[in-house]
Amino acid sequence: MSAMSSWDLMAGAAGQRPQLSGRPASNTRILVLGAGLSGLVAAYELGKLGYDCRVLEARDRVGGLEWAVQRGSTHTEVGGERQVCGFDEGQYVNVGPWRIPYSHEGVLGYCRELGVPLQVFINEAENSYFYFQGAAAGPLANRRVRMREVRADLTGHINELLLKAMDQHALDQLLTAEDQERLKTFLVREGYLDSSTHAYKAFENRGEGDPYDLVALLQGGFGNRLRSVPAVEGTAAAPMFQPIGGMDQISKGFQRTMGAERITLNAEVQSVHQDDRGVKVVYRDTRTGKTTEVPADYVIVSMPLTIVSGLDINLSDDLMQAVKDVTYSNSAKIGLAMKRRFWEEDDHIFGGHLYSDLPIGEFSYPSCDYFTRKGVLLGLYSNGPIGNLIDQPIAERIEYVLTYASKVHPQIRTEFESGYAVFWKKVPYSLGGYASGRNVARRQRLSQVDNRIVIGSAATTPRSAPDWQEGAVAAGWQALESIHARAMRG
Ligand SMILES: Cc1cc2nc3c(=O)[nH]c(=O)nc-3n(C[C@H](O)[C@H](O)[C@H](O)COP(=O)(O)OP(=O)(O)OC[C@H]3O[C@@H](n4cnc5c(N)ncnc54)[C@H](O)[C@@H]3O)c2cc1C
Repeated sequence: MSAMSSWDLMAGAAGQRPQLSGRPASNTRILVLGAGLSGLVAAYELGKLGYDCRVLEARDRVGGLEWAVQRGSTHTEVGGERQVCGFDEGQYVNVGPWRIPYSHEGVLGYCRELGVPLQVFINEAENSYFYFQGAAAGPLANRRVRMREVRADLTGHINELLLKAMDQHALDQLLTAEDQERLKTFLVREGYLDSSTHAYKAFENRGEGDPYDLVALLQGGFGNRLRSVPAVEGTAAAPMFQPIGGMDQISKGFQRTMGAERITLNAEVQSVHQDDRGVKVVYRDTRTGKTTEVPADYVIVSMPLTIVSGLDINLSDDLMQAVKDVTYSNSAKIGLAMKRRFWEEDDHIFGGHLYSDLPIGEFSYPSCDYFTRKGVLLGLYSNGPIGNLIDQPIAERIEYVLTYASKVHPQIRTEFESGYAVFWKKVPYSLGGYASGRNVARRQRLSQVDNRIVIGSAATTPRSAPDWQEGAVAAGWQALESIHARAMRG
């Protein structure tokens, strides 16, 4: 794991919050463009240092990708189709970031500091299903197999095999006789084996029915999802956390603490021009159409690079080329509001995911409001294209998910109330999910100060990865450090 971290293949933590020394000259004005997590982190810390710091944000809300879609949420896709969320009051789905690993101390530290209440995000639920299709999945194809059955049966069978080997003295040279006895006791207990015959049989907590055959389980591919200890990040990590009420509670926490007057919403930045004396930023009020020019000494650009690449901004040619070279993921999520929490009532699944090869990416159950009446399922989560789904009308995208999900949960048809689809490539002011690839040299180039401007969005993160908010925090820290150093030089 440490080798992978050093090769930048693992998304670790953001490191230490920068301790900056030196105070800016009075009235040094910094504009931060974009009120996503990276921009908010930079602006919040610069404000503490004494800068006259203001944020311009195009949307009518803070948070950017941090978006808990709920009743009344709305957006119009590039291409023209508009949605208005009709979920019941109090129901929501995180269509951007939704979970925070326990190791992401940068994000969690801000939650603590800003008073953002967290709850546990359940990544693995014993009763959740595996569902793999097609002949390659062997005898267990096209049927629901519970996580606890898979775990119990795989461990039981393997422990039985190991005990057989020991009974035939295959491990005599590796372990002393006493240690062999200790290992046998452990294997029997761990695998729920018969203590005298060492055979694996079904047991109460595994659930009804006979164990599945070991070979069938291996062919099914279920084992690929199981690790001795969950990875720090990913679909099985534990524990993870989520803000109560939606991920955007973090950005709202920044907004509350910084003071609403520091952040101008509905301010779509149109141009950024710098010279040796300062920077002029022009923004358009999206409600009135009025344009305003704001002067600043320095600017942090915390907008997605998909937007910067089309902006009227006088960056050096090679920096602009580096911006244009970055591609963004084709991330999408679909929330499905249900009249009844059938997965809890009928299937006894509380949080966690469906593990399947259905072409809907991740399908997940909410880690909140258990035992209440209604809930919102995450019906689809993908970071790559799914055929030409993105080109279909919204109603057809939702229908597509219902069709596949009903293979595992037939009740989904009758319990479905309404859906909301967010395909980030088609969302204005995003035009993509997160910066793809982990090209360290490119990220270093992107984060160099260009006279009076520095880019500071998750795409430029020096640590962690753009597909984690921890990366946005690290990028915000890096941008504020370099702009502070630049301001100190004058
Ligand atoms: C589908 C998905 C799932 C994810 N899941 C997780 C997860 O579970 N956990 C996790 O930690 N991370 C997750 N991430 C990653 C996380 O969302 C990002 O790392 C982080 O939110 C990026 O923050 P940012 O500030 O760099 O960018 P953004 O959030 O994109 O912020 C950019 C801001 O710039 C604004 N802007 C754009 N154009 C203009 C303009 N012209 N004028 C003014 N403002 C403008 C935007 O409106 C936006 O507010 C996920 C990302 C995606 C896409």
